[in-house]
Amino acid sequence: MKLLSTRTSTLGATFLEAVHAGLAPDGGLYVPEALPHFEDVPDLMKSGFATRSTEILHRLLGDEFPRAVIEDLARSAFTFPAPLVKVDDRISALELFHGPTLAFKDFGARFLARVLALGTGGRGRTVLTATSGDTGAAVASAFHGLPGVQVVVLYPAGRVSPLQERQFATCGGNVLALAVEGSFDDCQRLVKGAFEDAELVAELGLTSANSINIARLLAQTLYYFEAAAQADGEAPLVVSVPSGNFGNLTAGLWAQAMGAPIHAFVASTNANRVVPDYLDTGRYQPRPSVATLSNAMDVGSPSNWERIHALFKGDHDAMAAALRWGSCSDAETEATVVELDRAGYLADPHGAVAHRVLRANLRGGERGIFLATAHPAKFREALAPALGREIPLPKALGDLLSRPLLNEPLPADQAALKRRLS
Ligand SMILES: *Cc1c(COP(=O)(O)O)cnc(C)c1O
Repeated sequence: MKLLSTRTSTLGATFLEAVHAGLAPDGGLYVPEALPHFEDVPDLMKSGFATRSTEILHRLLGDEFPRAVIEDLARSAFTFPAPLVKVDDRISALELFHGPTLAFKDFGARFLARVLALGTGGRGRTVLTATSGDTGAAVASAFHGLPGVQVVVLYPAGRVSPLQERQFATCGGNVLALAVEGSFDDCQRLVKGAFEDAELVAELGLTSANSINIARLLAQTLYYFEAAAQADGEAPLVVSVPSGNFGNLTAGLWAQAMGAPIHAFVASTNANRVVPDYLDTGRYQPRPSVATLSNAMDVGSPSNWERIHALFKGDHDAMAAALRWGSCSDAETEATVVELDRAGYLADPHGAVAHRVLRANLRGGERGIFLATAHPAKFREALAPALGREIPLPKALGDLLSRPLLNEPLPADQAALKRRLS
């Protein structure tokens, strides 16, 4: 698979080069030079998730990896189901939260981890990541125990939930959790500083695992095919994607370009409306994010929008014609969680946003699917008052709470980080 930078169409890379680099050298994002269009989609729909995913990945990456390696990657990364659960006569939830950290980021992070472990060629690698909570959990869990890769998670001490902290700070082994005496912005600044330190990058084989990594997006295309495979009937499918950095929607649009039978996408956001406002007005105005209930979508400058922009060649009218969109306030999100719960489906705030915006955009004769991106128990404190009941903790999370923390404190200081890593 040949990839190009969104900013310079002559800056190419192989998949593995792009995975290791993260960003293109010109600061752009890697996108496929061309996506194949599958002519045998009805046959693909008949396979199970792992078999179909192996086949699709082989068509994309077969020039770089033997089929057996791809099959092993897919089978070891995607060890959990993505069930399509009926919510009412017209709408279903694609539940993407059955992985180890109970959020859809497990799909991308587990695939990326295995690709990076493959590519180490005996040399050690260090994945350095800053987290405000969920990304650290997905990355730590995905890499834990993989040979040849050391993971370092920087997080703001005292500013993540106890459950989130347990998810990345109790692993031990190849996962080092550093509790930074500062804010999330300090953590990001330290990570950025480390990547600007050529000596450190070379010495440690420093790699990023953030959400702009192409491996994460390719893995995410696979569950859109799965959604279509599980949907019964002939009605055109409309898929609502709860969006923050817009990686998930990018993956959906790529899946559609490859032939996944999806009629339309809905870009759903919370009060962070940069993209809906752009689609409404044609003016793209990033701005500071505001905090909401669906906090993984609190993004004021969506990093993957550049990829969607590139897919439509920057044509606002084409984007506005192809997409549907909308946003939802915290009050509406909470009301939707309660309403769905009374009807027998418990959604998390991110899924609830996607459901609400989908409902407003679904037309007669269509079948709607919203992506349920996180397990509702991850938001049990926030949701309990409105629901009037406690959400039980899944056993895997409950067990975590009793595990000892293996974190180390770190001053918010570049030299201190360098000393700790060297
Ligand atoms: C990251 C995240 C999102 C947003 O996904 P993007 O790809 O950044 O648009 C939505 N829901 C949950 C639970 C997330 O963790």
